[in-house]
Amino acid sequence: KRQVLNRREDATERLLDIARDFQGEREKDEGGESWRDGTVHERLVHALVKGINSHVEEDTEEARQQSDRALDVIEGPLMDGMNVVGDLFGAGKMFLPQVVKSARVMKQAVAVLIPYIEQEKLERGEASSSRGHIVMATVKGDVHDIGKNIVGVVLRCNNFDVTDLGVMVPAETILDRAREVDADIIGLSGLITPSLEEMRLVAAEMKRRGLEQPLMIGGATTSPMHTALKIEPEYDNGVFWVKDASRAVGVARQLISAESRPDFQRQTAAEYATLRERRAGASKRKPPVPLEQARANRLAIDWSSAPLPPPEKPGLHVLDDYPLETLVDYIDWTPFFRTWELAGRFPEILEDEVVGETASSLYSDAREMLERIVTEKWLKAKAVFGLYPAAARGDDVVLYRDESRREELETLLFLRQQRAKAEGRANRCLADYVAPEESGREDWVGLFAVTAGLGIEEKLAEFEAQHDDYRAILLKALADRLAEAFAEHLHQRVRREFWGYDSDESLDNRELIEETYRGIRPAPGYPACPDHSEKEKLFRLLDAPGNAGMELTSGFAMSPAASVSGYYFAHPEADYFVLGPVLEDQVEDYAQRKGCSVEDVERLIPMQVQAG
Ligand code: SAH
Repeated sequence: KRQVLNRREDATERLLDIARDFQGEREKDEGGESWRDGTVHERLVHALVKGINSHVEEDTEEARQQSDRALDVIEGPLMDGMNVVGDLFGAGKMFLPQVVKSARVMKQAVAVLIPYIEQEKLERGEASSSRGHIVMATVKGDVHDIGKNIVGVVLRCNNFDVTDLGVMVPAETILDRAREVDADIIGLSGLITPSLEEMRLVAAEMKRRGLEQPLMIGGATTSPMHTALKIEPEYDNGVFWVKDASRAVGVARQLISAESRPDFQRQTAAEYATLRERRAGASKRKPPVPLEQARANRLAIDWSSAPLPPPEKPGLHVLDDYPLETLVDYIDWTPFFRTWELAGRFPEILEDEVVGETASSLYSDAREMLERIVTEKWLKAKAVFGLYPAAARGDDVVLYRDESRREELETLLFLRQQRAKAEGRANRCLADYVAPEESGREDWVGLFAVTAGLGIEEKLAEFEAQHDDYRAILLKALADRLAEAFAEHLHQRVRREFWGYDSDESLDNRELIEETYRGIRPAPGYPACPDHSEKEKLFRLLDAPGNAGMELTSGFAMSPAASVSGYYFAHPEADYFVLGPVLEDQVEDYAQRKGCSVEDVERLIPMQVQAG
């Protein structure tokens, strides 16, 4: 007995040591230290609600010593605090960044208690009283997990058990684990379009295995429409699209409860059926036009006037270990706040009546971390890009090895809009922005790949060891921002010096964000060119793995996740557009050009293909 006690005291000392080591990183209460005068219960609740982790280990240890069981600390003050957080969040009086900070306090407190709880479980055979168990993962082929991690945090602090299997997780692993832990809900996340198809496969596999758990779906390219059209028909026991982290708890609660689930499931299924009908109706009203007709209505550019200058520095360029401080000024902050589910434009959002205070505090944390990312070199940025002689051949763009234009390097494939257009509006295709072979005009196209996520794993592991989801998510979001900033900065350098068609361009950050410059950099997987698999050609030509440390997953996601790649088109008329519906005639044509099956194409662009 004495030995056990001694071991416990040693463990406590160690934890307190660790806590002291992190003092520099601790969140302090701006309102002063008077809250320290309260009872330990009050202090823990206060720390949780305010997200202050400066005394969490000491207070938790104190509460534990006053309690019969370590579990009482969780079920008493910690749950009391998290209930307040949950209520405020549910009522729209508290926002995600604060919730993630509160969850961090919770996690750090629980880490203190875990060894004792394990011991008590052994001694008395007690189990914890969670609401339910959710197994979740980013699906195979995808590496994006900011959203999933946020959902995990929010669910955990609402007393759900969460088994998070990480990223690139195959269906078998997810479903095997769901069986092992007897999961109540399965959650899938993904950001890129190929993940949509993977989610459909997981749903089909759930049916094949005869599972009964409901399936939750979330992530940037997921939508109620895709869920209704592609996923829900594969699985009969309930598929639920979840808009964002703030809705996840509500949905999970309804699914866990035996009373509410049947109604909720019926109601959701009815909504999806309505969506499917609406979609079928919409395609009848204004049917897309045949491919031949769309091609005849291509964007007609007059290639006989005002030729573009050839690039100043053609060929392949590598920017190794690019200075991060250069990129900071190019950051577009608005999407950063969106990641944290704070709506509004930067910088106005900092003054916003509702979210201003949270946004400002988040921004100050972000700036502080950014400073350390730069000065302590937490991340490494690399880029590779190439400027190639090119010509349009129908809807393809041919790239040549050199200016003799004798040897073809690669053929880039593009899709053409087939939506019925109003008079005077073209059915666009990105190839329209490149001079066709028969025009005799010598044109050029660029390819690029940039990353700012190299080395992130090491820091993330450190934050994980500190039970600090807040900093982990912050770092990932900042790495994404730096990658986008790099793409913007590099594009500007290309316009000004490497290609040099706008050598005296001088736009400020706002104008750059609004992309008022000449030329575009569409990215494969985005609306004008939704086929992610074309990234393979970019990566091969640029040798992005060798030159920039970037890889493609089986689902054509880029790794590190904080990466951007795409094409440069320089023509003044080049503009972004949305591809929209595509008919079977183009699917067949594209499959032939790509040398793959029609089914492959349907899987690559599931939302565009429409029956004729
Ligand atoms: N400032 C933003 C930039 C990313 S969003 C940020 O920091 O997040 C804008 C980019 O998305 C464009 O530069 C382009 O690469 C891509 N994009 C936007 N619309 C597109 C479309 N319709 N087709 C292809 N790519 C598109």
